[in-house]
Amino acid sequence: MINYKNHREKIDKILKKEISLQDNVQYFLNRIEENNNLNAFNFVFPECIDKAKEIENKILSGKYGKLAGMVIAIKDVLAIKDKPLTCSSNILKNFVSIYDATVIQKLIKEDAIIIGKTNCDEFAMGSSNENSKFGNVLNPYDNTRVPGGSSGGSAVAVAADLCDVSFGTDTGGSIRQPAAFCGVFGLKPTYGRVSRYGLTAFASSFDSIGPFAKSTEDTALILSVIAGIDKHDSTSSNNPVTDYMNNLELNKKLTIGIPKEYFTEGLNEEIKNSIFDIIDKLKNNGFEFKEITLPHNQYTIATYYILTTAEASANLARYDGARYGYRIENPKNLLDMYIESRSKGFGKEVKRRIMLGTYVLSSGYYDAYYKKAQKVRQLIKNDFINAFKSVDVIITPTTPTTAFKIGENIDDPLQMYLNDIYTTSINLAGIPAINIPIGKDKNNLPIGMQILANQFEEDKLLQMSYFIEKNRLLSH
Ligand code: GLN
Repeated sequence: MINYKNHREKIDKILKKEISLQDNVQYFLNRIEENNNLNAFNFVFPECIDKAKEIENKILSGKYGKLAGMVIAIKDVLAIKDKPLTCSSNILKNFVSIYDATVIQKLIKEDAIIIGKTNCDEFAMGSSNENSKFGNVLNPYDNTRVPGGSSGGSAVAVAADLCDVSFGTDTGGSIRQPAAFCGVFGLKPTYGRVSRYGLTAFASSFDSIGPFAKSTEDTALILSVIAGIDKHDSTSSNNPVTDYMNNLELNKKLTIGIPKEYFTEGLNEEIKNSIFDIIDKLKNNGFEFKEITLPHNQYTIATYYILTTAEASANLARYDGARYGYRIENPKNLLDMYIESRSKGFGKEVKRRIMLGTYVLSSGYYDAYYKKAQKVRQLIKNDFINAFKSVDVIITPTTPTTAFKIGENIDDPLQMYLNDIYTTSINLAGIPAINIPIGKDKNNLPIGMQILANQFEEDKLLQMSYFIEKNRLLSH
């Protein structure tokens, strides 16, 4: 049983010898086994139990890292030295990483315990975890429903208590949407806040790495460890990193923006009502609200799917049967090796994206699609720049519906893409956002709310999340 609310309490209990870290790690290993049907993990590292004793001793000796004994699961798109890195794809099924991603190095340095790698949509493309070579991940609240995607396994690992914290990646919502479907906290940091070194690229100008957690505090703690500039990622920022966890109290009431475009038809009534319930409570607590407009919002899905497929088609060109992973046996010639290895190695959705991306970048269509979408991206970004002139944070739904049924959208890619309607704009603009769990619908499925802030203002985002969590404005 877990009897701590966050990492601070866990350390406290280990120091008081109320918790043994070995028992704790064993507990998670047992839970993973018992919940095997959820299919949240691609690989489990039972040897991590050996780390438990070592780190427990460190804690008791008084000299230990910030994440000492925190049990963490990692999405299988991040490189861990000497461990498989499959991206849930056939093309990388036998690939083993030879180095640690920067975030992994940082976690290990702070004495975290890595328990395994989680299932996800192939190359992080999807919103339901139905595009994985390892099969579907089940939503722990209702096993006939999806956990969301693409970081479905990571969301489930935290929601089903298979670890303390997990890591996902978010290119268009892949942390926030599964966090919403599984009722946990999920943070997508500002683009450039966290180094992408060792993350398998999907769409390089969108990809962000972030945590799933059971509390705002743990989310803040993780961010302070993983944020910062890295010489291996030229897009990482030197913007100063704050001690987010010890800076969670708001020192003034923030002004909150409500974008009218996010509360129109298509939004499930129960989600809408839960959010307005929180808004009312925040109003009673002295927060000021403003209706704002993000006028280019209607173009976000189209812009996102043009630009990310273009970037993906370039990034995935490296899987050619020669350099990485899968190669067919006895190819007839070089071209045959490329074609057959890629045809057999990639799944349907990944191929769809590569073809779309190749099309929008091809001569004759480049100006009409890719170049135009780049311009629209700037307009979407400008909408946020304007909005943040008059508000500190923005509140929106994370998803238009709660978790949908397995199979419900799989034959209708457009319907699937529409699930990202409230999340992709954030990646187009490069700003940070968090999903916080705010309640359940009539089917007992989790409801998520999204908070957005301006670039590098994760502190405000986390303070707002903490205020709502601490004052129990959440209706469970
Ligand atoms: N669902 C979105 C997509 O399929 C987002 C994926 C992601 O954030 N990695 O592209």
